Order: sequence, then structure tokens, then C-alpha cells
Amino acid sequence: MDIDLHIHTTAYSPCSHMSPDELMTEAKRARLDGICITEHNKIWRPEDAKALSDKHGLAVFRGVEITTTGGDIIVFGLDEEPDGIITPAELKRKVDAAGGVAIAAHPFRGFLLFGFGALSMDLDSAMENPTFSHVHGLEVCNGLVTDEENEFAGKVAGAMGLLKVGGSDAHRTVGVGTCVTVFEDYIEDERSLVEAILSGRHTIEKRK
Ligand SMILES: [Zn+2]
Ligand SMILES: [Zn+2]
Repeated sequence: MDIDLHIHTTAYSPCSHMSPDELMTEAKRARLDGICITEHNKIWRPEDAKALSDKHGLAVFRGVEITTTGGDIIVFGLDEEPDGIITPAELKRKVDAAGGVAIAAHPFRGFLLFGFGALSMDLDSAMENPTFSHVHGLEVCNGLVTDEENEFAGKVAGAMGLLKVGGSDAHRTVGVGTCVTVFEDYIEDERSLVEAILSGRHTIEKRK
């Protein structure tokens, strides 16, 4: 199943320029089998996700991108947003208690911009980022960062034995499906999405 795991819509992300209906139309055009809506610090109500899925005939899963003191973390399997900005360790405790999965989003975004140069940054120092010890995986394909930043995230995830996932981080229709996680298993609900991510039975594809 081809799923874009990281998408923002105008429903709850003011930074997005894409309505939920526009997202669904584009996701079908991109031949995705499902999408995951990950607004900033806001989880969709289950009934709203189901209504959107039924309307368009495409699987809709709910996640959330939580702002933490250690950067953005994408979470699946959580039913309630934490209050205020918390640490990655606090978030990980909540995620574990809920039986979910936590992924560091775009872990090296902007490293080239700030002049560190992800390619010249050494793997050992990158692995020391404390956030990485409080997540199950890293986003190693994010549609809004450079190929070098994505590749470096992949190397760090590999070296640390962390899971690798990908999502477009689309805020506009043009971005939908640029990074896709291809699951070997059929995913029927959010519980099986969490299990499929944790199983590692998936690959990541950069598209468009
Ligand atoms: Zn983010
Ligand atoms: Zn995002």
C-alpha cells in the first residue's frame, strides 16, 4: 500500500494552502492508496477522517506533527494532543503509553542553509542529537528538504538502527505524493498502520 504519511491541510494547519477535498483529489491522481493527515499539534476527529475517506473513496489515517523542544515529531496512534510544548522524552512516554509510534520529522532540515553542510557533518555528532533517542524512527524522505538532507537522515537512521519512513510534508497539492512509504501489508486502520510502521516491512520512494 502506497501511503503519504505527512500532509497538512487548511482544516487545522494555517500554513497550508490545500483543503482536505483538494488533497483527496490530488492523492487519487497521484495513485496513492491512502494518506495520513498530520496537522500541527492537532489530531483530526475520527468521524471527520472517516467522512473524508467515505466521500472520496480513499483511505485516510490520522497522525499529528507535534512541536517539541527538540524539533518536530510525527506521531501515529495518539488520541489526544499534549498541552503546550513538551520535550521529546515526555512525548515518547505518552506515545508508548498509547501504543503508538514517534518519528523525527525532517531531522536535518536547514542544515545546509545554516552552513553546517549535512554532507560534511560527521555521522557520530549527528547521532548525538538527544531527540533521536526518544523516537522510533526518522523521516528519511521529506518532500520539503534537499536530497542531501534526506540522504543524510537515511544514513543516521541506518547507523542508529532506527526505522525509516517518508512523507511529502505537502502544504499544497503539488507536494502530495513526493515522498511515499510503500507498505508490504494491507493497512485497514490506524492500529495496523502503527504496527506496519513498527514492523519495518516497508520501503520509501521519492516521486515527482
Ligand atoms: Zn515540521
Ligand atoms: Zn509537516
